[in-house]
Amino acid sequence: MRLIMLGTGMAMVTKCYNTCFVLADHTGSFMVDGGGGNGIFRQADAAGVKIAEIRDFFITHKHTDHILGMIWVLRMVTKRLHAGWVTGEYRFYGHEEVIRLLKSFAEGLFKPALLKQMEENVRFITVEDGDTCRIMGRNVTFFDIGSAKAKQFGFTMELEAGGTERLTCCGDEPLKECGRRYAEGVRWLLHEAFCEDAQEAFFHAHEYFHSTVKEACETAERLGVKNLVLYHSEDVFLEERKRRYLAEGRQYFSGGLYVPDDLEVIELI
Ligand SMILES: [Zn+2]
Repeated sequence: MRLIMLGTGMAMVTKCYNTCFVLADHTGSFMVDGGGGNGIFRQADAAGVKIAEIRDFFITHKHTDHILGMIWVLRMVTKRLHAGWVTGEYRFYGHEEVIRLLKSFAEGLFKPALLKQMEENVRFITVEDGDTCRIMGRNVTFFDIGSAKAKQFGFTMELEAGGTERLTCCGDEPLKECGRRYAEGVRWLLHEAFCEDAQEAFFHAHEYFHSTVKEACETAERLGVKNLVLYHSEDVFLEERKRRYLAEGRQYFSGGLYVPDDLEVIELI
């Protein structure tokens, strides 16, 4: 399985795209969040990802930098279904609030023919904390990350069907106690890192409920994570970001550390 980073930035970035990604292998693909707009199409195109071939989509929470791109994804697949270019079912997963919002955006914005198509071919799947679904033939368990800002879910996924090795995504906030059991000792942890530790006072990572690179790495080290991917970062120093974050992170995390740029692909297994 591979991780295709479509975007790696926090909400207000201008030099890269907002954090969203695709997990893919020969069985299919799973898209997580859509970023903040129809730039999702350009990112997918550049990454060689054909959105309409993906059947499973998950939205972590309602913030603009995560859900608005997914409106475009929903529009694209319903349009293609309506045109007869694709057939079958598309599934959108999320907790009650994001599913309600996604549907109400569509109902308020899409024309009737697309809405009719959506009703026929799109399944909205509301997940509760701890629910497990089968995606790409693997068990995926969604969990409430315990956000104080907006209800947000992360997930943990088997890297191979029935296997014990897992990938866990904690959304765009620091992992909290309630998410610990999903992240402990995992092969891959996807965790946000807003900025370098020395830049906290400038970027206000804590005020916005985010971590610094140092803090994310300390968490992963404490949990015995094997590989850590940092994302959802500022882009002020985009050219320098990878080098600087890796240099800081390696002081606190002894496993495999990854600071991807947009469109980077990471082989997971
Ligand atoms: Zn975000």
